[in-house]
Amino acid sequence: MPRIARASIDQVQAAADMVEIVGQYTELRKAGANYSGRCPFHEERTPSFSVNPTEKLYYCFGCGAGGNLFGFVQEKESLDFAAAVEYLADRYGIALEYEETSARGDAERRRKERLRSLLEQATVYYERVLTDAKAAASAREYLAARGLGEEVCRQFRLGYSLPGWDKLRDAARGHKFTDQDLLDAGLVVPGKQGRPYDRFRGRIMFPLADDRGRTLGFGARTMGDEKPKYLNSPETPLYHKSEAVFGLHAAKAAAAREDRVYVVEGYTDVLALVQAGVHNVVASMGTALTEQQLSRLARVTRNLYLCFDADAAGIGAMSRALTLGRKMGLSLHVVRVPDGLDPADYVLSGAGGDGFRALADDAQTLLQFHVRLALAAHDLDKPDGRARAFAQLRGVLSEAATPIERDEELRHIADRLQLSAESVRYLLAGSERSVEGGEAAAEGRREPPQGGGRAAAIGGVHELEVRFLASCLAQPAKGRAVLAGIDEGFFATREMRDALSAVKERLELDGPGGKARAGDAGATAETGEVLAEVVVLAGRERFTDNVVDELFLRLQEAQVGRLIARLKLTVQDDATGRQSKELASLQAAGRRLREAIRAVPVDEEPHEG
Ligand SMILES: [Zn+2]
Repeated sequence: MPRIARASIDQVQAAADMVEIVGQYTELRKAGANYSGRCPFHEERTPSFSVNPTEKLYYCFGCGAGGNLFGFVQEKESLDFAAAVEYLADRYGIALEYEETSARGDAERRRKERLRSLLEQATVYYERVLTDAKAAASAREYLAARGLGEEVCRQFRLGYSLPGWDKLRDAARGHKFTDQDLLDAGLVVPGKQGRPYDRFRGRIMFPLADDRGRTLGFGARTMGDEKPKYLNSPETPLYHKSEAVFGLHAAKAAAAREDRVYVVEGYTDVLALVQAGVHNVVASMGTALTEQQLSRLARVTRNLYLCFDADAAGIGAMSRALTLGRKMGLSLHVVRVPDGLDPADYVLSGAGGDGFRALADDAQTLLQFHVRLALAAHDLDKPDGRARAFAQLRGVLSEAATPIERDEELRHIADRLQLSAESVRYLLAGSERSVEGGEAAAEGRREPPQGGGRAAAIGGVHELEVRFLASCLAQPAKGRAVLAGIDEGFFATREMRDALSAVKERLELDGPGGKARAGDAGATAETGEVLAEVVVLAGRERFTDNVVDELFLRLQEAQVGRLIARLKLTVQDDATGRQSKELASLQAAGRRLREAIRAVPVDEEPHEG
């Protein structure tokens, strides 16, 4: 990208009216030398946002947002600096000069400008055909029959390409554009005898625009049975399919304001929703969301609500979006439209924008969506159906965005698979941390989940230890009694020993309702983290006395399991038979512990604890 000349930037800075620019987003009133109003960056009732019109600076005393003219445009229009300068230059009629004067850079920029100008004129041409041409009557009827009014069609600059081979080509050549221009813009296809012909014929034209609303290419839809149903511009110097998002320009302001954007599959879904008053909506180009598309959306909001068909293609696309979006720190949701309707039909069938918003309020996270999908795919009345559902869910759950979200889903799964939440948790723990300890694990034996029963303790020992300490904190009377019987040798690692002594200290010093003091007991940073985990967990989950007992028994069982595994490594060389005896007694202890675990009463599901 060539750099904009400093002089041009100064010119834009001088010409722009800061109050007018900010006034597009919030109502400003004169207050002394400044203007003030409600902040366009956060929700508020009383104005704490100020604009200095001469310095062209803004600041919010509520949220601390502040900056200069260009910064404001960058933020509100989701543009980078150069694009913000160009945006303002367009608006105030300033011709920018660029620093780079290399012949090649100049030529490339002029080329792109020429293609932009051609695409703009093509957009106008298609628009005019749709409104005026007799031959476009069927297109107008088609849009009207789909419930799309003229106003929304004008807003998105819909057009129509006439049937025929050189309609657009003739019109463009009349404006002194060459065949090469038309080829480079993707508007014609090279013909056999070197005579290009119109790419789009007899189709409704949807301009695909950049962030500033400038046409980069077209999506074109047939009204009949011709194939393909949708025909898009090819890759050109301006149009890149992997970056295209239909309607982003129009959706940006509302999406930033509501801090969410709806992603639908079809162009007409976007139009129908906008017409119904839902403005923060865009369409993906086809179902597979690319990283480039997601990052364009992420510049506006991190909360994406996908409304795709629940067919195989839509579900596959949403799975990929989950993985990609998680990497990018996005929060993804799935909006389910009832009765297999697409969003356009849904709002037009009487539900309206409010009906759609209500659906969105019930949106599932992508994780919830996948969990329900896995549960629906198996016969949960049968043990092997539950086992298969469980196997499928192990991988899915490790994709949870937050521990809270994962815990919520765990509870749901426990309910559907008829397992106690504790049992499910142990089985799942293996998907987060390396599996250690436990006699069952050491012997390579895994019990399948059993309806209503308890599964083997295959779990991360660390998680078990943390949960044990958390349960002691949460049930102080029980916790004190249990912890009194163990010393720090009970835990194998330094961090857990430190956490144990911190928890003991707390239980003695602080009664119920005592203050949390993270980082005490002279802890290392690592211990502080473990203790924080213990304390947060104690406050978030429902631990009962029975759970304290169960966790304590499970920990002991895990320890016995580790001793057995270690002993087995040496028992072959055992001449005296002492180790064999020891092994037998440990195995008996392990069995007793497992019996004791099974004997711990299962708590009723909490009505309210
Ligand atoms: Zn603010």
